[in-house]
Amino acid sequence: MLDIEKIYKESGALLEGHFLLSSGKHSPNYLQSAKVLEDPKVAEQLATELAKQIKASGLTIDTVCSPAIGGLLAGYELARALGVRFIFTERKNGEMTLRRGFSVEPGEKVLICEDIITTGGSAMEAAREIESRGGKVVGFAALANRGVCHREGGKSARKAECKLPADKPFFALADFDFPIYEPAECPLCKAGSTPVKPGSRGN
Ligand code: ZN
Repeated sequence: MLDIEKIYKESGALLEGHFLLSSGKHSPNYLQSAKVLEDPKVAEQLATELAKQIKASGLTIDTVCSPAIGGLLAGYELARALGVRFIFTERKNGEMTLRRGFSVEPGEKVLICEDIITTGGSAMEAAREIESRGGKVVGFAALANRGVCHREGGKSARKAECKLPADKPFFALADFDFPIYEPAECPLCKAGSTPVKPGSRGN
């Protein structure tokens, strides 16, 4: 079993300090998901581990689909590890759409893959697009679970904000359920430090 937290830390994807999240709340941790995929060897290791879990569940998958941009690398590596094809959806005028000549066969079994799932909003937009094209979404996957949704075998309970369907499996390697504080109640602020805003969206 891989030590996922150690891998995220060593690649600089798991930051520690005092962060201002896009929600306006504060946290002592921040996940910069793209950093863990900087080294293709690490990406391959993570995807292989995730594929192992999915194969063990017995779920049949024809295709992996990721919402761009966040899910592309994780989804591509996962498709390679599962030995299936890979497609992606992307936003056009705000709508998550399948473009670039990608198509879905009627009843094709599709797994939606993200780098990280927080509420699963983008994953659900991709899922709806696949189903509107006649595909069948059989499950969801992500390298990391932010602790809002419940992953197969995970300890984090499903919270009300989770948008993934409760009746479909969600596979992820680890739960990153960090403390999140309202600014007025943030102990780091009370200790006198100022929160910093990390580069890109990472929740
Ligand atoms: Zn604070």
